Amino acid sequence: MGLDLHPIPSYPMGSFKKMSHPIHGMGWDGMGWDCPIPFGALVHSIIHNQLSAPPFENLIKNGFIQARITNETIGQIEKPKDICFKFYDLYCSSQDCDERTLLKCAWCKNTLCYYHLIEDLHLHL
Ligand SMILES: [Zn+2]
Ligand SMILES: [Zn+2]
Repeated sequence: MGLDLHPIPSYPMGSFKKMSHPIHGMGWDGMGWDCPIPFGALVHSIIHNQLSAPPFENLIKNGFIQARITNETIGQIEKPKDICFKFYDLYCSSQDCDERTLLKCAWCKNTLCYYHLIEDLHLHL
C-alpha cells in the first residue's frame, strides 16, 4: 500500500522562498495522516513521502482502522512530531550546510534544513 503522491507542479521555485516556517505553520501537531496543507503540492508531496516512511506504518494503518477499512490490530503509533520534530542536531546534516534543522527525515534520519528538504526535494521513493 502506498500513499498517492500528488503530481509535482511546475512551481517557480522562488515562490517557496517567500514562505516562512513552511512546516511549523501547517498544523503537523496532532494531525493524523491527512493534513490540510495551505500551500504547494510540492510540499504536500514531501510530507506524504515522509508519512509513508516505515516509522509511520502503524499511523497509516490506524487511519484505515478508524475508517473501518480493516480490523487489524496494530502496535504503537508514532506521531509525526515524535519522529520528525524530535531531533538533537540543530543544524542541517547536509554537507557544507549550516542552516537550522527544519525536520528529521523519517526515512534516513538525517536532519534537514528548509532548503535541503523542500527546495532540494528530499524524497524517498
Ligand atoms: Zn531522507
Ligand atoms: Zn541544509
